[in-house]
Amino acid sequence: MEGYKADSGFARRTEEIGVPNLAPEFRIDEVIRTTYDNLTLEQIEPVRSLPTRIGIGGLPSVLLSKLRPLLKYTQLAKDDYLFQQDDRVDFVFFPESAVISEFQMLADGRTIEVAVTGSEGAVGISSVWSTSPAVNCAQVCVAGNAYKIEADILERELTYSRPLQRWLHDQINSYIKQISQKVICNTHHAVEERFCTWLLMLHDRSKKSKFNLTQEYIAGVLGVYRPSVTCMAKALREKEAIDYVRGQIFITDRQKLKKMSCACYSELPFSRSF
Ligand SMILES: [Zn+2]
Repeated sequence: MEGYKADSGFARRTEEIGVPNLAPEFRIDEVIRTTYDNLTLEQIEPVRSLPTRIGIGGLPSVLLSKLRPLLKYTQLAKDDYLFQQDDRVDFVFFPESAVISEFQMLADGRTIEVAVTGSEGAVGISSVWSTSPAVNCAQVCVAGNAYKIEADILERELTYSRPLQRWLHDQINSYIKQISQKVICNTHHAVEERFCTWLLMLHDRSKKSKFNLTQEYIAGVLGVYRPSVTCMAKALREKEAIDYVRGQIFITDRQKLKKMSCACYSELPFSRSF
């Protein structure tokens, strides 16, 4: 406590809440948090239902426990948009079981996926310390739950926490790495390989083997026409790597899918090593 007596404001507020012997940056963090007078019951309530085992956003447990009071639980339905291109991004999302696709959309309506994020990452981090509108649109690819935090509040937390700043930089690096790998993939690898890699990425992030995906949607992800998806899906089914019915795809043999994926899969962050 001695170190904060020079700042009478911090010292006074520290005494009021009786913050125990925490590391200095977290001591400040805690004090600042008590000034969030605008925290409503709705924002605080989800804390009670947030399991301690949860792993989201690639956050170390100590950082997650610090952010937990500020996270709001949310259910995301398939095809919901978190934000669209040129929108203002007010929230950063931490998917847990949901998987989010980010797309670039051309003027003629064609799309291509540039990033896919599950519980290993966060969506909307480019909005932190920035007033620029969204560069991509973010859409729910696999329905599930997530947690969100107001970008303004995350900014304040970041201001006082070096570990959180390091986490943000790691997230940005992973994001750039994934987008860079996608550029290589979209330029140099066959669409069949890209399709297998993408299915494996969904499998890793959702821990599910069954997906509600139309061929139209997959065509938009891969930036190809729908008949190409029909041919690829048929070939993969003949090899017993996947199966499908209308609007649903099932991964039936992950190892076969991996053998047919491109080299990008093992290069991408959060790829499982089997
Ligand atoms: Zn590739």
